[in-house]
Amino acid sequence: DENALRVAAEQLGADGIDVVRLGYSDLIGTERGRDVLADRFDRTVGDGVAFCRSVYATSPMGDVVDIAGGLSAGLPDIVAVPDLSTVRAVPWEPGVAHVIADVYNPDGTPSEESPRQVLRRVVDRFTELGMRPIVGPELEFYVLEPDESAPNGWRRYGEATGNVYVAGLKGDPENTLLASLRELAAYGLDVVAANHEFSSGQFEINLWHSEALDAADRAFRFKHAVQELSRRRGKMATFMAKPFNDEGGSGFHVHFSTLDADGKPLFDDPQGTDGLSDIARSAIAGVLAHAPALAAISNPTINSYKRFGPDTLAPWLVDWGLDNRSAMVRIPPERGRASRLELRLGDASANPYLAIAGLLAAAYLGIRDGLTPPHKLEGYGYDPTKADRLPADLGTAIDALEEDKDLADLLGPSFVETFVAYKRNELERFGQFVTDWEFREYAYHL
Ligand code: GLU
Ligand code: MG
Ligand code: MG
Repeated sequence: DENALRVAAEQLGADGIDVVRLGYSDLIGTERGRDVLADRFDRTVGDGVAFCRSVYATSPMGDVVDIAGGLSAGLPDIVAVPDLSTVRAVPWEPGVAHVIADVYNPDGTPSEESPRQVLRRVVDRFTELGMRPIVGPELEFYVLEPDESAPNGWRRYGEATGNVYVAGLKGDPENTLLASLRELAAYGLDVVAANHEFSSGQFEINLWHSEALDAADRAFRFKHAVQELSRRRGKMATFMAKPFNDEGGSGFHVHFSTLDADGKPLFDDPQGTDGLSDIARSAIAGVLAHAPALAAISNPTINSYKRFGPDTLAPWLVDWGLDNRSAMVRIPPERGRASRLELRLGDASANPYLAIAGLLAAAYLGIRDGLTPPHKLEGYGYDPTKADRLPADLGTAIDALEEDKDLADLLGPSFVETFVAYKRNELERFGQFVTDWEFREYAYHL
């Protein structure tokens, strides 16, 4: 309300903040927003800040996609209202504070396509069951440096000596990762640790677990912060799923469990099979049952499907196992309050709000429908005679999402319709685009 805004604006001034960056996620997880002068904050932001619906309808290359209520409807307004509980000073931009907004339609109803609203809707369903979903995100990414002689103009940072878990300057020659870790912590993202990943120039940073919406907010801010910090150093951080043919992809692993309304953990049961409760087993079963549709959300690009494959530590099959990194769902060995599942399906290119909403929705359906999981995987997880394969490409996953009515109902039918239209446009544009692979394969030999 007005009063809260005035107090926030005064506070911002008192803290030496002169600009508030009001940001929110578009469909694909890119931040959209405006820089608002702090002394105008209460007046400008009172009824929310208007944007046009093109934020849901434009591709990164600027193509306008024909979504419902898009260009053919005259691209009407959406309204961004700041969630004042999310105001944070940006440590590397003195004078700037960042706030996350919720997006509404001009009539005051929540915008169905807004990823933060999609997640809120799914969390509400857990609340009805008396459950509080807890989420811990882990994101992998590559750091690249400009190099005219490298493919696409970028080489991997620390390429010569980087390897998994190498510490110090060997993998991080300019302490870039270390500096980022500290800045992300100062930004209040509750990061825990950073490490070098399997491929050179590839890193991971873990975020501590918290309630689903807060965890998604932090993961959303994290991706943009890592990219901003890299830009400031003349580098590029990329969360693309599989940027190189000869190196591994970047995962977005999500740890998940639920508490009851009093904070008691619901996934733990010392008497249950594998020390897991029936609720945990049903959640696992739901994630497996809805995996093909879920892939469309957590593996949302054409490139995403090139990360999957045998022996990659990314999943390839729809399976689960105890402390098994070759499975799609891994159950980490800790029990008690730390009993949880780790969904390894998603890749770093996913929109954090949507990837978390999708996981929660699938788990919710498993719990609601009392599903039981198939046999757990023992040992090697890449035997295609033992489990179904994940969708081989984005088109197949999008079809599965469209057919999964239960999941679509939870995420919101208009959201799913818009998302599907957006992704079909992407597939169509790619289908018409001639790639270097085609030139190499066909130009000389046929
Ligand atoms: N990079 C792998 C993936 O794409 C994960 C490797 C790891 O377990 O850290 O999921
Ligand atoms: Mg990792
Ligand atoms: Mg992990």
